[in-house]
Amino acid sequence: MTIYKHLIRMGTNSEKKYCRDFQNQYDAIVINANILAHTTSSMSSFLGCELSKDFLIDPQTYAFQSYGNLLQSSKSEKTSTNVKKSISSMLTSYGEKIKNIIEVEKRSILYNDFLGKSGEIFLHELSENVINFQLNTIQNQSLENSEYGEYIQYELSSNTQTVNLKPFALIPPYFYMTENTVDNWIPHNTKAIKYCKEKFQGESIYAQIVINKEILLNNLILDKIVNEYSLTNADGYFIWIDGFDEKNIGQTYLNNFIYLLKNLNKNNKPIYQIYGSYFSIMLTKSYLSGTCHGMEYGEDREVFPVGGGIPVSKFYMPDLHKRLLYRDALKFLLAKGYLINKGTYFSNVCNCKTCKQVINNNPEIDFSAFGDFNSTTFKRKAGNKEYSVTMDYPTTEAKDLCLKHYLYNKTKEYEYVSSNSWQDLIQQLKEAHTNSCKILGDDVDYLLTWANVIQKITLNL
Ligand SMILES: [Zn+2]
Repeated sequence: MTIYKHLIRMGTNSEKKYCRDFQNQYDAIVINANILAHTTSSMSSFLGCELSKDFLIDPQTYAFQSYGNLLQSSKSEKTSTNVKKSISSMLTSYGEKIKNIIEVEKRSILYNDFLGKSGEIFLHELSENVINFQLNTIQNQSLENSEYGEYIQYELSSNTQTVNLKPFALIPPYFYMTENTVDNWIPHNTKAIKYCKEKFQGESIYAQIVINKEILLNNLILDKIVNEYSLTNADGYFIWIDGFDEKNIGQTYLNNFIYLLKNLNKNNKPIYQIYGSYFSIMLTKSYLSGTCHGMEYGEDREVFPVGGGIPVSKFYMPDLHKRLLYRDALKFLLAKGYLINKGTYFSNVCNCKTCKQVINNNPEIDFSAFGDFNSTTFKRKAGNKEYSVTMDYPTTEAKDLCLKHYLYNKTKEYEYVSSNSWQDLIQQLKEAHTNSCKILGDDVDYLLTWANVIQKITLNL
């Protein structure tokens, strides 16, 4: 079985470029079913032909648990009553019944939709549709419509396996569980897995377990989850903890997260954290097979996000394993004297390809390329008064540089973790903390938290 240590998530079509340019730096790619459903043709030729990478399709069935979040938001910021186009395309593949609930009955899916005989039939149909969508969409589309059709046909028949049209694992429908709802949803979640295991024999069927953070504080529920999911015989697990920002939560959560992984690991199946930071990368030395991040922003994610906010430039600090606001990064580098010349920058901050291009004879000025912005002024009305607001948006070039620097550093992190010992990792965290806490204060406290949690792991190994 192939293990995919370094997964990246492609969130939008505009990120294709980075997935292509960096394709030698990660192991597999994850995309959401709604993007595939909405742009089937271009996404199929991208994944199936242009990019020869193993991939995974997240079926996103949890989204149906919140009808309000499926709706388009219009420009006036009032929510319309139309379901987002990409969700609607996905629903078409998932079957009449679910489409009817969302688009005709206009409501969230509820756990009791799956109760009783008719509920069971619904769960089975949904499971088949969801798996078939992942299994067949790219293959069918690539063969039928793409300019590569004949080539793919030839490759498939010659059995050389140079084309990659099937996800490396298939995910049955899954639903989000909180402390209050776990008893309602766990039976449906596990039944869907068992059904898919039976119906699609020979395929790799992975469970996606999506829970809220509070569950981590309740060992009884954690044990229940481990027991129930172990009984499904799933071939592997994807874990998603709602809004689990590993840099912003205390030791209790991190220790209990490890407790969950440790118990789930008794099944000897791969476990992936689907939104993870450097902390999860460190866990790939044991406990985790791999972890996934997005294009700068996907190191944690809320199940039902609360809106975006305005984009700001952030610079990933390699030693701190964290993105800092550009101005904070600049202050830190100036205070440390790292911008004195390119030598001090390359040896103390970063010597990735992007930094080597950007930082030259005048690092203080050169570094500003990561923080370039355009200002836009517009008018706002409050009552009968009108006033103007100016907002700064990072330039396309600055965003591009920050992202490339981030992607180079992520790759380095995976490499660093696999080629160093636990003690080396702890040492690095402690040194990074000592080196930065005088300037950044409690904002870098997580480095010591991580060091303590990792130290505890090594005592129990
Ligand atoms: Zn760099």
